[in-house]
Amino acid sequence: MKWKGKKCKSCKKPVLRNGKYVKNKGAMHHHCWSSWYLKRLWENSWKLCSEYVRRRDNGRCITCGIRKDWKEMQAGHFVHQKQTPVYFDEKNVHCQCVRCNHHEGGRRDDYLREIQRRYGMEEADRLLQAKYKIKKYSISELENIRDDYQRKLSNLKS
Ligand SMILES: [Zn+2]
Ligand SMILES: [Zn+2]
Repeated sequence: MKWKGKKCKSCKKPVLRNGKYVKNKGAMHHHCWSSWYLKRLWENSWKLCSEYVRRRDNGRCITCGIRKDWKEMQAGHFVHQKQTPVYFDEKNVHCQCVRCNHHEGGRRDDYLREIQRRYGMEEADRLLQAKYKIKKYSISELENIRDDYQRKLSNLKS
C-alpha cells in the first residue's frame, strides 16, 4: 500500500504511516476520525430519538394537540440547548407540529405547562435546571444513547 502522499479524508493533510496517527480503515488521523465519528453518532442518535418520540406520541403535538402522521411532525425540545445533559432525555423531547416547533419558537409556556402536568413540578424543574449545565458527550455515551433508542424504537414497532 502506498502511504506517501495519502491525504486524510477529513482534514486533507497527509496521513503518516505511523501507528500513532494512522487510522487504517478510513485513512484518517485518529483525532480526525474521532470528531468525524462523534458527529455521525450524534446525527444517528438524534434521528432515532426523533423518530421514537414522534411514534411514541402518536403524531400528536405536545403544545397544540393537532395530530398528523408522525412523518409530517417534528421532534421538539423543551430545553433545546445541545450541550446539556438532557438533549436526548425522553422527557425533554416530544412530538411537535412544524408550526409550534418552528414558526412559534417551540411555544415554551405551553410546553412548560404540559411538562408539569405530565411529569410533575420536580421533573419540570430538573429539566429547567439542566439548561445551565454543560455536557460534552463522549463516543461511548453516544453509542449507548443510539443503541438505547434503537431498542426502544424496535419495541415500539413490534
Ligand atoms: Zn486529519
Ligand atoms: Zn402544534
